[in-house]
Amino acid sequence: MTDFSDNPFIELFKSQEQHQFLIGNATYKQRITKLKALRKAVEHTYKQEIRDALYKDFKKPSLEVDLTEIYPIVDEIKFVSKHLKSWLKKQKVETPMALLGSSSWIKNEPKGVCLIISPWNFPINLTFGPLVSAIAAGNTVIIKPSEMTPNASAIMAKIVNRVFDEHEVALVEGEVEVSTQLLKLPFNHIFFTGSPQVGKIVMEAASKNLSSVTLELGGKSPVIVDDSSNIDKAVQRICFGKFVNAGQTCIAPDYVFVNASVKDAFVTSFKKQIKEWYGEDISKSESFSRIVNQKHFKRLQSYIDDAQANQTEIFRGGASDEKDNFIAPTLVLNPGDDSKLMQNEIFGPILPVKTYVNIKEAVHYINQKEKPLALYIFSKNKQNTNYIINNTRAGGTCINHNLLQYLNHNLPFGGSNNSGIGKSHGYFGFLEFINQRAVLKQHTLGAVDLLLPPYTNFKQKLVDLTIKWF
Ligand code: NAD
Repeated sequence: MTDFSDNPFIELFKSQEQHQFLIGNATYKQRITKLKALRKAVEHTYKQEIRDALYKDFKKPSLEVDLTEIYPIVDEIKFVSKHLKSWLKKQKVETPMALLGSSSWIKNEPKGVCLIISPWNFPINLTFGPLVSAIAAGNTVIIKPSEMTPNASAIMAKIVNRVFDEHEVALVEGEVEVSTQLLKLPFNHIFFTGSPQVGKIVMEAASKNLSSVTLELGGKSPVIVDDSSNIDKAVQRICFGKFVNAGQTCIAPDYVFVNASVKDAFVTSFKKQIKEWYGEDISKSESFSRIVNQKHFKRLQSYIDDAQANQTEIFRGGASDEKDNFIAPTLVLNPGDDSKLMQNEIFGPILPVKTYVNIKEAVHYINQKEKPLALYIFSKNKQNTNYIINNTRAGGTCINHNLLQYLNHNLPFGGSNNSGIGKSHGYFGFLEFINQRAVLKQHTLGAVDLLLPPYTNFKQKLVDLTIKWF
């Protein structure tokens, strides 16, 4: 057995481990009561403090906080509360003839002690979202939120302390070193949301204890706009997907492939849209967030500088302001494939637009890159839509809009390989925190009892018959 006695979090871990059966045996009603307490805290008691915290962290507009941080949690709790009773019921399964005299069922039991590591970009949503699934499944949880949004972390710590006992849910704040220490412990499940690079570190650490993992990662999510689509509508929706949270969204459209014949219409519509939404001076708009910190500001600015150095055509919605971590919505036309913009996940308000003549070119380009978390299609042409869906791979797809696939709890949310392993939301998120325990009960004499040693010719015949007929 590995000795964890010098780990700074071992006492907390052990106390959760000791309480895991008490918490895991809570009825569905008791679990819903806890979820409702969390909902009340987020939706009412601490709503304004959440808005204030996110404004302090990166000037996130309060409407966006309500829409992208509070609403998804409230909605997830409503959805889970409606279905939890049926999800926790023992699921009877059929009995094959060869096992006559027995019955079988699946018991959805909690995994045990879980770790949730969350990112900064939607800190409340991406911490409490998986927490709802973990509580519904009957687990105990240690949470490590991102150090990059300290105000959001502080308000979440306050909520967790108010709603839960530490032996059920505890939140630990701190830098990367805190994650590193936590990842050494033998958690029964680790739910990580963040970059593919750190996802690999998490998976490697988890392998030391054979902890199961959910990895909600990122990458470059492409958009294809064909010549049959309504360009103004497509631009409006893409701008929403790209500029909410200032583009710091895992499923934001990363780059666009537009049919060459509608490129000019796309660019004209883009310029008009930006002005309409944010006015002449975007830095004064109350509807646009800032970049989370100077490190990310510099990273994004270097992408723009790189495009400028290569004489790429650029439309900038305004000048950058380093003191305010402000980067205006920016469109870059046909950046080179080896440019910084096309080599990295952008995670900011810069939209590269590439053109294609034949849809196969766009599909080929997309397939040269890692599988995206989302792939978006704007088209009225069924043949094009089917061609794209059947010849690419992605965690999720939205047709004629973007981001909305995230909001339907009947859909699984997650990536594939480099963009993620496992799913979240609704039943799919619940299952990540569940061990589907297989139970078989023998009631009477079973067929297998007739086949015990010593093996005779008669028993061999019975086996032959079983293989052939049952
Ligand atoms: P990140 O991977 O840098 O950090 C995420 C979390 O991991 C933070 O809590 C951080 O403290 C911790 N961490 C960082 N380095 C670590 C290390 N070496 N060892 C252990 N823990 C470490 O990600 P981020 O910058 O917070 O978020 C942006 C990334 O997350 C983007 O790639 C984005 O696409 C992705 N993302 C994915 C989803 C999704 O649902 N799939 C949602 C949001 C963000």
